[in-house]
Amino acid sequence: TYPTERLTYILEDSRPALLLTQEPVLDQLPAIAIRTFCLDSSPLDKYSTDNLNHVVGSNHLAYVIYTSGSTGMPKGVSIAHGGLSNYLHWASTAYPMAFPQGSVVQLPVVFDATITCLFTPLIAGHSICLQPALMTAELFDFVNIQQKISLLKITPAHIDMVCADGSKVEPCAKVALTVIGGEALSAKQANTWLSRFPETLIVNEYGPTETVVGCCIYRASDVPKRAMLPIGRPIANTQIYILDESINPVPIGVTGELYIAGDGLARGYLNRPDLTAEKFIPNPFSASAGTRMYKSGDLARYLADGNIECLGRTDGQVKIRGFRIELGEIEIALGALPQVREASVLVREDPQGDKCLVAYVLPSTPEIQIPLQLLRTALLQKLPEYMVPAHFIQVSHFPLTLNGKVDRKALLAFGTPDRGTDYVAPSTITENVLAKIWGEILQLDKIGIQDDFFELGGHSLLAVRLITKIHDTFQIMLTPRTVFESPTIEALGSILEALILEEIGKISDEDAISLMNKTGG
Ligand code: AMP
Repeated sequence: TYPTERLTYILEDSRPALLLTQEPVLDQLPAIAIRTFCLDSSPLDKYSTDNLNHVVGSNHLAYVIYTSGSTGMPKGVSIAHGGLSNYLHWASTAYPMAFPQGSVVQLPVVFDATITCLFTPLIAGHSICLQPALMTAELFDFVNIQQKISLLKITPAHIDMVCADGSKVEPCAKVALTVIGGEALSAKQANTWLSRFPETLIVNEYGPTETVVGCCIYRASDVPKRAMLPIGRPIANTQIYILDESINPVPIGVTGELYIAGDGLARGYLNRPDLTAEKFIPNPFSASAGTRMYKSGDLARYLADGNIECLGRTDGQVKIRGFRIELGEIEIALGALPQVREASVLVREDPQGDKCLVAYVLPSTPEIQIPLQLLRTALLQKLPEYMVPAHFIQVSHFPLTLNGKVDRKALLAFGTPDRGTDYVAPSTITENVLAKIWGEILQLDKIGIQDDFFELGGHSLLAVRLITKIHDTFQIMLTPRTVFESPTIEALGSILEALILEEIGKISDEDAISLMNKTGG
């Protein structure tokens, strides 16, 4: 689902010998010369069934995962087999309760978080169930029906999403272990999860992509009374240091930057020796020559009981709905548009209290009013949807700090995002029903048919909820792409009506009348 421009960059940068894909997505792939194999349609029987004559050592590359890059392009993190097997070996002994029934894999494989639920059961001979992400309370039904899941891996944002629909509060079947990672976990989120899965053990797993999934964990047998859960202690063969600016350890309780060393450390960033040297620095605390530590950019401190607590970032890296984003990458993409002279992106809270991205843009010519929808569409060509700001605010100047940098705090005073369009009331039955559904999902009272779902604070996870509600009401299943391409009630209403007519054409008159009665028209 990434834009072609991003896929092209990733394929050109990583130069894979072979691209495994599937026929339905072939036409979305960039037209570059890469040997491609379609798993769903290419015949396999002409190939040998012998084992490969191929030896993999611990220093060989296991995978490259791309994360957002502050210089405007994503960066590939190269992880070797030694680091991966260290994590998996540790996880299979530390998480015995994750067996015997295996796990469900519902996070995308482009995030390393998936490794826990994908490989930990497999290497111990247990089953996994591949399932598209369930971002609504459907997850609980799924787990209850399956009855075969002992391990769930989720992000805190995922908890907010699946528990937002408070209608189903029945405690769920046994899931022995829930590993939660990717961003800071609050006690409130942990308790919400426990109210759904009272028998589960929650583990808060911390770790950047640069160090194989998780390098520091906290077992929350009891949720502590503090607002945020600690990240605990390092996993096997891993060292964590909390250091000041001169690379000296800070005392217990004092905040410093978190550095990570040990077996899980990435080789570095693919094709980026400069960035690798900047972030993976020599480890002065190791007796072995040549060992390195990763400068995480996370602020942390030791608690009195030896657990580590995370306290935010030193830089412009943020997490939105579990996705790692460098604000600089969005600012560079915006600044490259001809209508924009300069842009600054911040994280703010929307009316529902969720974090969202807000872009402040200075037009290339002072008099022009940039059509905000144009910025959105242009960014969607370059960036994944989760990196496209929910709101755009045009400014006439940027407030500066004394040393001439954009004063981000002062930007917050530049008003709240404008909804961009004048209110146009719904007129048809479909539009009225859609406006009610939108209102419930976005928690807004008055939604006009030309208001943009994403400008009102909608995002991909809320789009999934929208699709589910539309399906419950109209018995029509839309795709997320339809919502992205037709983000207003007016546009979505016409598509729905056309689809409803098509469906009605396929069924008997009696069924059509009963459907019309059920859906109010
Ligand atoms: P990623 O590379 O996408 O896994 O993102 C890594 C970053 O996410 C870390 O450097 C932290 O800033 C944040 N992070 C990941 N897990 C946690 C956690 N359990 N608690 C707090 N922050 C976390």
